[in-house]
Amino acid sequence: MGALTGKVAVVTGSTSGIGLGIARAFAQAGAAVVLNSRKASPESDALVAELGVINGGKTIFGAADMGVPAEIYAMVEEAAKKFGSVDILVNNAGIQHVAPIDEFPLDKWDQVLATNLSSAFHSTKACLPLMKAAKWGRIINISSAHGLIASPFKSAYVAAKHGMIGLTKVTALEIAQQGITANAICPGYVYTPLVEKQIDDQAKAHGISRDRVIKEVLLVNQPNREFATVEQMGALAVFLSSDAAAAITGTAIPVDGGWVAH
Ligand code: NAD
Repeated sequence: MGALTGKVAVVTGSTSGIGLGIARAFAQAGAAVVLNSRKASPESDALVAELGVINGGKTIFGAADMGVPAEIYAMVEEAAKKFGSVDILVNNAGIQHVAPIDEFPLDKWDQVLATNLSSAFHSTKACLPLMKAAKWGRIINISSAHGLIASPFKSAYVAAKHGMIGLTKVTALEIAQQGITANAICPGYVYTPLVEKQIDDQAKAHGISRDRVIKEVLLVNQPNREFATVEQMGALAVFLSSDAAAAITGTAIPVDGGWVAH
């Protein structure tokens, strides 16, 4: 028996990076898992098989573009039909775009806000009736250190991640007496494909090497000068989903090597 045996977890944007790390940790803790990205692919089929070996075949794929509300509601409905409920929701899908505000493309602003913030509203709205019926639930929003502090050129991302913490607090207050918690995890730099793309973008923006971007740009504010790991994110998500964390709600927990302590 794992710590989360019998629970059903939907993890958005979970075919790579932090989402996949959390999905793996949930499977290892015994939860049924709904993996999500825009579309099924040979890679997602392989991940369903891999996690299924860990949690006894209780991994499925839920296709949904998290920027498209109707697809989010349909995915949650499918998950509930398949497993009976949704107990744990991790809003992880996210994208980044880096540009000064006066040059920020309007379509990129809309896309970042839809994918990183509105998606969490829609999935929360879809899952809350199921959690309320079960009188138990866990909502974990993957915000960012950029949900607590800002950096230049990331207007849409920083606005969305700050907004996600606001949404977390409101959610927590609304369901505080119903056995459901809502918390935000605020990672500093975690080495994932999203960061890999930023290394190249920043190298171009600053005209410096990838190595210098890592040491002098990305990790310059992360006092321990180490990337956090997807396994650390998974372990925290499992803890927040456990009964031991029942009194932790409405929080924004930095996992950033001390970044926001500055
Ligand atoms: P990643 O690019 O590896 O993963 C992002 C995931 O989101 C991918 O699986 C992608 O398929 C999915 N996704 C993107 N747009 C989607 C859409 N429209 N519909 C469905 N899925 C979509 O990135 P990551 O670094 O693992 O980031 C995961 C989350 O963690 C993001 O919200 C990101 O902002 C946040 N975060 C990451 C870091 C970091 O250092 N990596 C730091 C702070 C916060």
